Amino acid sequence: MQPDDFDNGARRGVPTCLVTGAGSGIGRAVALAFASRHARVIVNDLPSCTTLDALRDEIETIGGACTIATGDVSDPGRVREIFADIERLDVLVNNAGFLQESEITGLTDAMWDRMIRVHLYGAFYFAREAARVMKRERHGAIVSVASDIGQIGCENLSHYSAAKGGIIALTKSLARELAPYHVRVNAVAPGGVLTPMVDALGDAYVTEESARYPMKRLGTPDEIANVVRFLASDAASFMTGQIVGVNGGGVMNG
Ligand code: NAD
Repeated sequence: MQPDDFDNGARRGVPTCLVTGAGSGIGRAVALAFASRHARVIVNDLPSCTTLDALRDEIETIGGACTIATGDVSDPGRVREIFADIERLDVLVNNAGFLQESEITGLTDAMWDRMIRVHLYGAFYFAREAARVMKRERHGAIVSVASDIGQIGCENLSHYSAAKGGIIALTKSLARELAPYHVRVNAVAPGGVLTPMVDALGDAYVTEESARYPMKRLGTPDEIANVVRFLASDAASFMTGQIVGVNGGGVMNG
């Protein structure tokens, strides 16, 4: 066993980890990071996602097991259906999300609503169902993917910032509520990461964004996934309610 293996490896058998938005970028890297420790990974993404079959093949090739559970994270009925098949869950990673720029004056109710629904309601719906299972089992870890923007804000991303700030507050509250049940709840707050979400903004954006960080570059999905796996593992057994910056020094909290 490696020191950062899941605490239940020996005690409870193969751990089960659910990752939302696993079809791309950070979520995909997180799913593979768990699979590399032979976990059973339940991968979620939108029904329109075309990459999950290939991800399942990759997970199985490296020794993990994979179940595909498509669905929009903002649909509470679908989230309940996904959990109807889950008897035990060791790790939930709330990762699904999207980026959308808009000045506040052009931000429509529909844009605001969709942003909050996918990020904040999505994290809430999955955490609520996961908590039911984890409280019963008196065991588990929830890790949400927030953002440095949820800590420091960003022009033209007020709805995204508000959603991520909400996830940070949700994380701290759930950490307090679930600690008596041995369920730890943490979040990562990545800075810019080179994923399709950021690639879509173009080379000029990537260059400008890189300059913002002391390390003068963006992160990779694996650099975020490593920290998510750590937070989900027994190596982080005394960590709960923490918002861990993975941002090349872009935000320094103390
Ligand atoms: P990505 O676009 O590569 O992947 C996001 C995945 O989420 C996609 O596969 C998408 O289909 C899925 N998704 C979107 N809406 C969904 C929904 N309603 N239901 C289910 N799945 C849905 O983006 P990424 O950069 O890997 O982003 C992953 C997470 O990391 C997001 O929450 C994002 O806000 C956060 N994040 C990203 C960065 C960055 O710079 N890339 C920085 C900080 C935080």
